[in-house]
Amino acid sequence: MAKPCDHDFAFLQQQSEFMYLDSAATCQVPTPVLEAYSHYYRHQHANVHRASHRLGRAATAALENARNVFAKYVGAEAENIALMSSTTAALNGLAEQLPIDWQPGDEVLLSYAEHHANILPWQRLAKRYKLHLQFISIDQHTGKLGDWRTLLNARTKVVSITAASNVTGAVFDIKTLLAAAKAQGAITVVDAAQAAAHVPINVNDLHCDALVFSMHKVYGVNGCAPLYLHPELWPRMQPFQVGGGIVQEVSPRSAQWVPTIQKFEAGSPNTAAAVAGATAIDWLTKQQPHQHLAQLRTQFVEQLSQRPWLTVLPAGDHTTPTVAFYSLGWQAFDIATWLDQHDIAVRAGHHCAQLLLQQWQLPAVVRVSFGAYNSAADISHFLSTLDAGWDIFS
Ligand code: PLP
Repeated sequence: MAKPCDHDFAFLQQQSEFMYLDSAATCQVPTPVLEAYSHYYRHQHANVHRASHRLGRAATAALENARNVFAKYVGAEAENIALMSSTTAALNGLAEQLPIDWQPGDEVLLSYAEHHANILPWQRLAKRYKLHLQFISIDQHTGKLGDWRTLLNARTKVVSITAASNVTGAVFDIKTLLAAAKAQGAITVVDAAQAAAHVPINVNDLHCDALVFSMHKVYGVNGCAPLYLHPELWPRMQPFQVGGGIVQEVSPRSAQWVPTIQKFEAGSPNTAAAVAGATAIDWLTKQQPHQHLAQLRTQFVEQLSQRPWLTVLPAGDHTTPTVAFYSLGWQAFDIATWLDQHDIAVRAGHHCAQLLLQQWQLPAVVRVSFGAYNSAADISHFLSTLDAGWDIFS
């Protein structure tokens, strides 16, 4: 099973002994993306929008081109894509600014599989307005989204849900839930941070009002997270932050926002990260590593499952190339340390998803997440290193 795009990852080539299996946290960056980033700073760098000079116009064009690329990737129009710095920033902004007249007892529906970035902003809001947070359980045997029908009701004002688990790799069937939530009049938010690199996304198909993902998990760089907002939603929302670039008119005591999605982009944007992100989307669309990654995951899980001393977390039928496991005889942090000592990068812990581990009453788990640069040879090397450690420490 060949790697589809080996030559594009200079960092990994230089360190041939090193094996990176932590792509769910952040991806390594392909050379064309690094080149686009550096090209932007060498040839197009200026501040955008307000610039009346040639370079400013070039930077503006580059930013707007990136917005177009992100929009196309999720089946949206560019005028409904705001460029945020991260999924975390977008979810915080949404929790604060959704146009809801919150009443005590109103409900927000989440799942136990949420990353803390999609729990804590709602928790803070719930404390302020005396809201109830409801959580959809995740089936411990199948890894799938549990029954949500009893949790969705007329008091549900928001459903905010991850499209894929950052721990198990499960891709959840959220479409029916979101359609039902919309029918109830709830606002629907999708955290696509884990799904975006692996699953086709169409915002119209998903019945979502908002959807966000971070480009550093899609072979881009840090500092750019496209946020889709439904055209009937965002004109009713206030900016997440206020400052330069978003006002039509300012008087001493009030301001009028621009009537475009740019009202969510106060301050100087991270144009270089957006340019790199757009190149990453082009790169990913051309490379199509999805089948390769699905094969790697299947092969890996088959082989892990042959080891009776460890347990693989269930992830349903549809997955990203992320796998989590634990052993009752060898602690997750010790496994990760052993692997690190052998130049294998994985992650151990609760993965910012403590609620899932609590719901399943699990200790910390080891997470292995594949990227386009991984191969079947990596799996063999990983397993032989793991087995050697087990022989020593068990
Ligand atoms: N949501 C999910 C499902 C994630 O996996 C992550 C990051 O791991 C986040 C949100 C937060 O993303 P960021 O750190 O880019 O804001």
